[in-house]
Amino acid sequence: MTATLIDGVAAARDVREEWRGRVAALTAAGTTPGLAVVIVGDNPASRVYVRNKARACGEIGIRSEVHELPGDAPPAELLARIDALNRDPAVHGILVQLPLPPQHDTERVLEAIAVDKDVDGFHPFNQGLLIEGRCPMPPCTPAGVMVLLARAGIAVSGASAVVVGRSHIVGKPLALMLINAGATVTVCHSRTRGLAAHTAAADILVVAIGRPRMIVADMVKPGAAVIDVGINRLPDGKLAGDVDFDGVRERAGHITPVPGGVGPMTIAMLLANTVHAAERRVGGRS
Ligand code: NDP
Repeated sequence: MTATLIDGVAAARDVREEWRGRVAALTAAGTTPGLAVVIVGDNPASRVYVRNKARACGEIGIRSEVHELPGDAPPAELLARIDALNRDPAVHGILVQLPLPPQHDTERVLEAIAVDKDVDGFHPFNQGLLIEGRCPMPPCTPAGVMVLLARAGIAVSGASAVVVGRSHIVGKPLALMLINAGATVTVCHSRTRGLAAHTAAADILVVAIGRPRMIVADMVKPGAAVIDVGINRLPDGKLAGDVDFDGVRERAGHITPVPGGVGPMTIAMLLANTVHAAERRVGGRS
């Protein structure tokens, strides 16, 4: 069996088109959605991500502004900037690019973002709403995974889903979303014993580890849907996922590539959350 490819680039394009119309409607009614991205220091990967996010905003008519702080900016300066953005009516979404330099307390920074502008969905309040299945702006990467599964016509309700990775930004929120969608979910991590036995039982296998090509074909159930969140830079400069794509595609039913799978959806969902934040403001829900 050769798996059907789940094309994240095409899916992200469709999501962007859907939201472009909503941006136009908001703008015509006098509110242009605005995203503020805060970057501290000069981490090259972070700079690329921030540039891509700003460009994607521009493509569908969202106004974006990038706030650059020096790598040695004291915590008070970052918190003051977030406070100013919280109070700025032209800003509907705020994103602080992670990771932050070590002098900053990441949790405290994320908690400083106004709940209704938390377009990354990392604020503890919004994470709490996720447990209840009613988070208005869910974390972008797991939300993108759910859209990819839906578009591929993969039945989540009743499925056995295994998530490998338990980070706050991918694994844990995704596990909650899958539970809320009716899957029976197992979460694996570095302490899991017998990882392959778990992964091989999954109808839906989502991998977010950060180790290139760790999931190989005999760890996958024939016909499973395999979603690879991992992005790893190899010594030759190429990108690889956490799944051995060439081997696993001969066994799985559906598979996402890296690049071109989950990555583009993450940015698309950020745009969606920003527009949603603006719509909620206009609708008086924030
Ligand atoms: P973290 O490093 O925060 O978490 C990695 C998780 O993998 C941890 O829960 C860890 O377990 C688990 N893990 C590590 N080694 C093993 C192992 N040998 N067996 C089983 N589990 C293991 O990473 P993130 O969640 O932030 O990101 C994961 C990957 O996804 C990265 O490659 C990242 O670049 C990528 N990513 C991609 C995005 C996209 O848009 N496509 C967005 C965000 C991330 P433990 O908790 O026990 O340490």
